[in-house]
Amino acid sequence: MTGKDLFTRVAERLGTYQQQMIDMQRELVSRVAVGPNEGGPGEGEKAAFLSDLLRGWGLKVENFPAPDDRVAGGERPNLVAWVPGRRPEKIWVLSHLDVVPPGEEALWDYDPFTLRVDGDRLYGRGTEDNHQGIVISLMAVKALLDLDITPPRTLALALVSDEETGSQMGAAHLLREHPQLFGPEDLIIVPDAGNPDSTLIEVAEKSLLWLRLELQGKQCHASRPDLGRNSLRACAHVIVALEELAREFPLENPLFRPPASTFEPTKKEANVPNINTVPGLDVLYLDCRVLPEYDLAQVKERVRALGEEAARRFGVSLKVAPVQEQSGPPTAIEAPVVQALTRAIREVYGREAKPRGIGGGTVAAFFRQQGLPAAVWMTVTHTAHQPNEFCLLSNLLGDARVLAHVFLEEE
Ligand SMILES: [Zn+2]
Repeated sequence: MTGKDLFTRVAERLGTYQQQMIDMQRELVSRVAVGPNEGGPGEGEKAAFLSDLLRGWGLKVENFPAPDDRVAGGERPNLVAWVPGRRPEKIWVLSHLDVVPPGEEALWDYDPFTLRVDGDRLYGRGTEDNHQGIVISLMAVKALLDLDITPPRTLALALVSDEETGSQMGAAHLLREHPQLFGPEDLIIVPDAGNPDSTLIEVAEKSLLWLRLELQGKQCHASRPDLGRNSLRACAHVIVALEELAREFPLENPLFRPPASTFEPTKKEANVPNINTVPGLDVLYLDCRVLPEYDLAQVKERVRALGEEAARRFGVSLKVAPVQEQSGPPTAIEAPVVQALTRAIREVYGREAKPRGIGGGTVAAFFRQQGLPAAVWMTVTHTAHQPNEFCLLSNLLGDARVLAHVFLEEE
C-alpha cells in the first residue's frame, strides 16, 4: 500500500473518532491541573488518567518527574508515551498538562471545569490550551494503533508539566536532566500556538529579556523635597530615557510580528502608602522582546547606561538585574519538521503554510537553545487564557489528520 492510501485510511478512521475526542476533552477538563504557583494542585491527577489510558492502548509510558514539595506526591509528572517505529529517529509531539486558573469566574457563562458542547464548539478551561495538543496527538496515534500501522519513525508523545509558569519543571527539566531523549534528527512539534486558518507555523521567537530596575533615592516629607531625593521622579525620567532603546536597536525582521524589537516598561511595585511622603525607593520592570540578530548582553548594557544617566540627574542610583533571559537560534524554514508540517497542512486543509516568528515564549525556545529544531503549530480560536475558552471539534479532527500525515511520511 502506498503512503497516500495509508493516509487516506487513517484520515477516514479519525473521522469516526469525534465522539471519543469530545469524551477525552470532558475527562481532561474535569481534572483541574492548575500549577502550585497559582494555588492549584498540579498535574498529578490528569497525568495519572492519561498514563492509564495510554497503557491501556498497549503503549509504554515513562515518567520523568521533577521534584516539587508543594504538590501531592512531591513531584510534577512529565510523561513520554512511545510508539516504536521502523526507525529509531523520533517525531516528538510535546503538549502540556497544566492549565491557567479560570480567572474571574463571573465572566464565565458556565462552570470552567465542566465541558460544554455547543455545535462545533467545546467550552472549558484548557480545551484549547493545551488539551487540543493532547487530544490531536493521542487520537492520531490511536488511529495508527487501531489500523495496525507501524510508523516509519518512532513516535514520542510528551505530556509535560509547568508550561504556564516557566517550564522549569516541565520541558526545561526534560532537556536539562534527560538530554539523551532528544536527537538532532528528531522532528519536534509543539501544538500550542497558531492561527485560525491553520497556516501559521512558528519557527522563531524573539529573545526574551525581563529586567528589574531598582531606583534608590532618599525618602522625606513632601513639604521638604529639598531634604530627599525623589525616586519616582527619577523613575519617570528613566522610562522616558529608555525610549532610546528602540532607536539603538532598530532592525526589522519580517519573520516577526511586530517586525522590530520591543522594550516595554510593565510592572511597577508600590512605593510609599501616603501622598505626603517623597518616595526613596522605586522598582519597575522592563519586558524586552529582542530580535535574534541582537545580543542580549548588549541590550542589558544599554539599559544600564541610559537608566543610570537619567537617574543620576536626580541624585538617585540605579541597579539593573535580570529576572529572566531566553534566546535561541530560529528553526530554519528548510528544517524537515517545517517541511513535513507544510506538506501535511496543504494535504489536509488545502492551504499554504507561512513560517513566522512570534514575540515569545513557547517551550520551543528551550529546544532551539539546544540546537534542536522545533516548530510550533496548531489551529486556534485565540481563546486561550480567556473566560469561555473553547476549541473547535473540526480543528481537533483536522489537526489530528495533519499530525497523522506527518507520522506516516517516509522521509
Ligand atoms: Zn499553552
